Amino acid sequence: MIADSQPGHIDQIKQTNAGVVYRLIDRYGPISRIALSKKAHLAPASITKIVREMLEAHLVQETEFQEAGSRGRPAVGLVVDTPAWHYLSARIGNGEFTLALRDLSSLLVVEEVRPLPVDDPQPLLSRIINEIDAFFIRHQQKLERLTAIAITLPGILNAQKGIVHRMPFYRVSDMPLGEALSARTGLPVYIQHDICAWTMAEALFGASRDLNNVIQVVIDHNVGAGVITGGRLLHSGSSTLVEIGHTQVEPWGKQCYCGNHGCLETVASLESVLELAAQKMQAAPDCLLHQQPLTAASLCDAALAGDPLAKGIVTGVGHHVGRILAIMVNLFNPEKIVIGSPLNRASEILYPAIADCVRRQSLPVYGQHIAIEPTQFYNQGTMPGAALVKDALYNGTLLVKLLQG
Ligand SMILES: [Zn+2]
Repeated sequence: MIADSQPGHIDQIKQTNAGVVYRLIDRYGPISRIALSKKAHLAPASITKIVREMLEAHLVQETEFQEAGSRGRPAVGLVVDTPAWHYLSARIGNGEFTLALRDLSSLLVVEEVRPLPVDDPQPLLSRIINEIDAFFIRHQQKLERLTAIAITLPGILNAQKGIVHRMPFYRVSDMPLGEALSARTGLPVYIQHDICAWTMAEALFGASRDLNNVIQVVIDHNVGAGVITGGRLLHSGSSTLVEIGHTQVEPWGKQCYCGNHGCLETVASLESVLELAAQKMQAAPDCLLHQQPLTAASLCDAALAGDPLAKGIVTGVGHHVGRILAIMVNLFNPEKIVIGSPLNRASEILYPAIADCVRRQSLPVYGQHIAIEPTQFYNQGTMPGAALVKDALYNGTLLVKLLQG
């Protein structure tokens, strides 16, 4: 590795310190400069300087508050100043594009879901750019200073370079999404795999908040996971994912799109679960699933109503996922497992099936007391994009750009 030259090194320290101070104000505000100095382990003079720059950029503001345990005059504290700064958080899913304008505290200003047809002849990249342009024009009135664009999507991508190599549903080959959007808007653009960003969102604002070791499993069109270990997102900043969906669970099973056979995804993805239900229903005329169109919701409702076939299918998903989770529990010893899935509707059937596997198939001292809970957000939302922006503020990279104006 080549050592950083001195000026670059100082910039790096400034960026890190600014990120730390902003995170502490966001987390503990209103907070006094003295308390900030102690929590950040930075000299009061450094705090004064960083805070002055943030005040000038309208990223934080001063407010009077009563310090805990003090009966004296109100102290001057700092809080983040967010309404003046907006960013775009978007998600590309199967046939649709969700766009949201949020302020820097992640508060939603406006959100829209637009069709993004899979079979349109126009290149996906130009359609995305056009949709974003039109969104900004439609909401001009509400728009404050724009800081960044964050986009989450399924697929294989390089988050650093902003390149989407391949996507499910859409025909995409090495799409330079980050570069194109940045050239178009002049804004920093953050791109991340949706499950990875969703795991960050749960850790920052949701079900995994304040926990150091969590496994998040997504059972949806795709099956995947995210891991928080030692308080950090596993594989953070790389294009590597926790690909549990492509672990073999049935050696003689169906071929998966990855090339192998019997992957977890071929038995636990929403499509394969519904396909299995459709097959089994045919031999079960009394099955409740005949009464309405077959969807994840109707499958869950039938299972909750005690239909043996539906119950068996949801339990089967729990056992398949549970077997892989048991191995992951032995690797990461989490405090909690969070599940993001439309099958959460039948959590009282799904979770015990998962818990049962984890208890019986992992080290008892690790597996006994793990809480299994639903994620707070859902797959189609724009909170995962919000997490990318928050992360870029906390690590200082975006913050420094905003301070420089
Ligand atoms: Zn596979």
